[in-house]
Amino acid sequence: PGRLAIVGTPIGNLEDLSPRARRVLSEADRILVEDRRHAQRLFQSIGIQPRTEPLHEHNERSQIPRILGYLQAGERLALISDAGMPLISDPGYPLVRELRRAGVAITVVPGPSAALAALALAGLPTDRFCFEGFLPAKSAARQQRLRELEAETRSMIFYEAPHRILATLEDMIALLSGARGAILAREITKLHEEAIGESLAAIHASLTASPERQRGEMCLVLAGAPERESGEADLDRLLRPLLQELP
Ligand code: SAM
Repeated sequence: PGRLAIVGTPIGNLEDLSPRARRVLSEADRILVEDRRHAQRLFQSIGIQPRTEPLHEHNERSQIPRILGYLQAGERLALISDAGMPLISDPGYPLVRELRRAGVAITVVPGPSAALAALALAGLPTDRFCFEGFLPAKSAARQQRLRELEAETRSMIFYEAPHRILATLEDMIALLSGARGAILAREITKLHEEAIGESLAAIHASLTASPERQRGEMCLVLAGAPERESGEADLDRLLRPLLQELP
């Protein structure tokens, strides 16, 4: 029977492709790719010329029957996206859900993901965090989402496009305050990797002063709101016995 391997690929530095990823890609009968040209660069770097099948946001549902056909014919398939882990703000979720329902054997070859790399770089709490992916592109919807996140106490990871980063920072400053802790991790694993911080206002100032920093690939890691509830609970624990002492 066929099987599928979900394979993480580098987010900028080709050395991050693991030996296992390289072997699984080399052994695959067919590779499902988000963008053929993007994938070709990776294939060239490891010297393979596999058969490919497109799987992108516009066809990831309609392709499922065809992919099931390949698997029923016994093929070993691999799924990659343009960079990082497939399915993480990338195509693949509907496919994996359906293959699981169909009882297909699935394995994962974990690789880099910009989200976790940015979190590790940020120096913000990592014990609990949440991944927010891309904020809505339209300002009203983005502000609504940010209002919903205002009281979130976990560190939050966002992906953002270069042409929207200033608008997003401005919305965050207006709704959460410029003093809120944040780090912008740019061009992770690439030549000009940098982490800009340590508050929303400081990132905004740095990007307006150096417009070249508004380019490239970027993740924003936002500090959570202070844990108000547990503070209040502590106070409650202290005050209750004292109040009982009062006449
Ligand atoms: N699946 C990918 C992953 O696991 O990292 C993410 C795909 S998403 C379509 C692309 C976004 O990831 C970019 O817009 C950027 O926010 C972030 N990203 C990807 N590579 C990056 C890098 N080298 N440095 C910083 N952010 C990166």
